[in-house]
Amino acid sequence: MANKIAAGEVVERPASVVKELMENSLDAGARNLEITVQAGGKRLIRVLDDGEGMTPDDALMAFERHATSKIRRAEDLSRIHTLGFRGEALPSIGGVSRLLMETRAEGERVGTAVEIAGSRMVGVREIARAVGTTLTVRDLFFNLPARKKFLRADRTELGHVVNVVTQYALAHPEGRFSLAGPGARQFDFQAVDPLRDRLFQVFGADLLRRLVELEEELPLPSHSGSPRDPRSGEKVRIHAFVSKPEVQKPNRQSLYFFVNRRMVRDRILMHALGEAYRRILPDGTFPVALVFIEMPFGEVDVNVHPSKTEVRFRRQSMIHDCLREAVRKALMEARPQAAFSIQPEGIEVEPTIVPETPGPRSPTWLSRSGRTGVAGTAPLPLTVGEPVPAGLEPRSDLQTPDGPAATDALPAPAPGRDPSPPICAAAALVSREQAEAIQAASSITISPAHIHPLGQIEDSFIVASDRGSLLIIDQHVAHERVLFEKVLRQRGQGRVESQRLLLPLIVELNPRQQILLDDLTPELNACGFEVEPFGRRTLAVKALPADLSASDCSRLLGELLEGLENEAREVSLERLQEKIAASVACHAAIKINTHLDRSKMVWLIDELLKTRYPMTCPHGRPVILRYEKNEILKAFKRI
Ligand code: ADP
Ligand code: MG
Repeated sequence: MANKIAAGEVVERPASVVKELMENSLDAGARNLEITVQAGGKRLIRVLDDGEGMTPDDALMAFERHATSKIRRAEDLSRIHTLGFRGEALPSIGGVSRLLMETRAEGERVGTAVEIAGSRMVGVREIARAVGTTLTVRDLFFNLPARKKFLRADRTELGHVVNVVTQYALAHPEGRFSLAGPGARQFDFQAVDPLRDRLFQVFGADLLRRLVELEEELPLPSHSGSPRDPRSGEKVRIHAFVSKPEVQKPNRQSLYFFVNRRMVRDRILMHALGEAYRRILPDGTFPVALVFIEMPFGEVDVNVHPSKTEVRFRRQSMIHDCLREAVRKALMEARPQAAFSIQPEGIEVEPTIVPETPGPRSPTWLSRSGRTGVAGTAPLPLTVGEPVPAGLEPRSDLQTPDGPAATDALPAPAPGRDPSPPICAAAALVSREQAEAIQAASSITISPAHIHPLGQIEDSFIVASDRGSLLIIDQHVAHERVLFEKVLRQRGQGRVESQRLLLPLIVELNPRQQILLDDLTPELNACGFEVEPFGRRTLAVKALPADLSASDCSRLLGELLEGLENEAREVSLERLQEKIAASVACHAAIKINTHLDRSKMVWLIDELLKTRYPMTCPHGRPVILRYEKNEILKAFKRI
């Protein structure tokens, strides 16, 4: 019974078993971890390692509750250097599954196999095997039907497993991590050095290119407050990869923090990162960040929660400030130097930097759940393996054989092309005054009669000539501007073109979104949607604005609601209308990676020049870059 109860804490789902087993392997010094799962881990989980293994006695001992080889004295608890230390995982897992442990320690002639089913010892025998350990866990929760029922679809559980293995692989680049599922191999990350290479294996070159790497060391003051002898080597080391401002994610799922190689969810670190990105990212958007912190074991308490994902720092404000400053500095240094731009000097229109708001204020992404303060200790929830981070687009070789992506949390990019930039919907809108200022400041008058489209760059940017000058037009944001103004104009006239759907589209909502939606419905309906509640927590969409495709609609509503959830204050009707119009525009606009023939380019340029503010998209990004004839001549040294 005790084991079953403990299992409730330690074993939440297959991914939590995988996590505990991997931790044990790493604690045993393994460099090679081969993980196999079947049915998302519900039918089978196997973790094979080349660690130090166990003697026959230790193998039996491992299943005693609170039996751990990692803590010998109570003082050890204050300097935990291993991932495990509670001695709970194996008995707990053995309590809710059929478990087989096969192991051999260096120097032992034979290995040992121990079989456990629902906490009962089924058999012990000698076996032949290499040094190391293999744990096989079958039929998770076979004796707890109620828990078993709550496990999600295989694909979902597999997604969580993928996630947790990825996290550990990131924290331990010196190890090889392979994950095999039914049919095909999910991934196989060979041991690498440096860490950067592991990021490349996991996320690919595209994301890596948009990350800034930083390293920072901070000598620790001695306990009495005077600086300790620097040679003592007591230091906090921060090694991080943080995204450039152009990367904007709609949620926190791409934020990873590791303390002494343990993945943690920590509000102090989260807050520090938020401060570093203040006024760099629009409210309601989040960066991608992987933060690895190493510190003396005595500086951090990991014995806070059974899942060991929460920590307490001895010097929290010091760690907080150090991380914030390091990230700030790295972001400043990595500021892009615009090559050329139509924007005249003196006006700051760096697209992703939102204008300063008066007064000190934390970004809403921290205050959203009231977790702004540093002093409190309310934990951030972390289930082992949250959905695969939406921001960290996995490479195609991470995808499941039977479907597009490893979890249901990830929209599958169509092969070979980028999905449209998701950043628009979440980004902050520029105010009308700002758009006007930018407009007024760009003294160039552009007339459609003079513009000749020449072609596209990578099916994404229109290249055009304008009386000897060169124009590059971002086709997505150009169309976005066109649609944004169109929706707002039609809304103002009370006649938004709308299309009825043959079958209503069903969108799922969380309880908070359900509440938000009640306020939103009248305005949505005025903007060309026809939405009504449909059963519990679901919404039926019966009609859409004419430009929007049904497939974009549920994402749009999701992002819109998510954006509103992030709003600290109530939004005015006018702003709400703009937000809806911007969302519709973003989702309905021509995507990048879309081929346009000449007539479409001409049409788009015409439409763009008819708008009031053709120079900026609704979120303040530039639409047109211009290379003046003079500059071209100068560059070729003709003048
Ligand atoms: P903890 O990891 O907290 O010590 P566990 O229940 O996870 O507790 O494991 C119990 C003990 O079993 C560990 O302390 C370790 O001695 C041993 N053990 C478990 N897995 C392995 C492994 N893969 N290789 C070597 N020893 C292991
Ligand atoms: Mg353990």
